Amino acid sequence: MKMKLLPLLLCATGMVFAQTAAVNQSEETQAPENLNVQSGPPMLGIHWTRDFQPNGRNDNASPAALARARRSPNMTYHGGKIMPTAVTQSIFWGTSWGSYSGDKITGMDSWYIGFNLSNYAGTSDEYTGTNGKVTSITNYLGHIVDTSASSGGGNTQTILNEVCKLVTPDSSGNGYYAVYSDTPRGNAGYCAWHSAGTCGGKPLQFAFFFKLDGDAGCDPGDTSGLHSQGLAAISNVSGHELSEARSDPSSPGAWYDSSGAENGDKCAWTFGAPLVAFSNGSQWKIQGEWSNAAYTAGTGYPNSSGQKGCLSGK
Ligand SMILES: [Zn+2]
Repeated sequence: MKMKLLPLLLCATGMVFAQTAAVNQSEETQAPENLNVQSGPPMLGIHWTRDFQPNGRNDNASPAALARARRSPNMTYHGGKIMPTAVTQSIFWGTSWGSYSGDKITGMDSWYIGFNLSNYAGTSDEYTGTNGKVTSITNYLGHIVDTSASSGGGNTQTILNEVCKLVTPDSSGNGYYAVYSDTPRGNAGYCAWHSAGTCGGKPLQFAFFFKLDGDAGCDPGDTSGLHSQGLAAISNVSGHELSEARSDPSSPGAWYDSSGAENGDKCAWTFGAPLVAFSNGSQWKIQGEWSNAAYTAGTGYPNSSGQKGCLSGK
């Protein structure tokens, strides 16, 4: 079973020791969401909570590990396809969405509309694959509300089944379906993830998001007053997952680094600007995305390891 968790656990860079410890801890404390018992397609691009983020160097790291950490942090290409465009749709899943009157559904509609042709989307456009190059073109098909009882994110097949119940994957193969569950995160160590699979033999990308209301571990700290805290939280992790899906959608993988980190992972919980403007004028407190080109040119802002390869826009 190919899971991005395994390369993370095996990687020996100093910064990942902290993450290994955190994952072990999460396995102990999250029986219902235990990542090792999940079934279905591989869980890619897991967006770890703030607590589980690697924190730069680890003083206990071996000399060999520190030597590896001094290598270029840029991502390398692993032979797979990318998403040249994305046909996006959001799914709000859970009984509480039936009577929901807050700003999360309208807000995420605006987010996906404004992502198209945004400078933020442009941060992934340097990546190429067997099927071409990522572009900033995304086409949002709107949202679906499903008021059946939701689940958490511990089983990718459960989430894929939910997507297949509601949509026919876009015939281009570039469909991306974002499932916003009304289940809170609880003890799970991640805020969201993305994956890929098929519905009736048709390929698609999909992603899962916990309800993050009042969840300090997955909160970007948006003080703009433009959005509720819950919307700000899911919009931030949505940028992470969609950017990763576009640059590393499925197996075999496309762009990730020597520890398995994708472009969202490498800049998780770091912000290059107080607010990022999308193409429709909406503004978001949203993490940057790793750019190999920016790192090489020294023009990015630093990630949590001090590596200057993060961009909020291009
Ligand atoms: Zn990720």
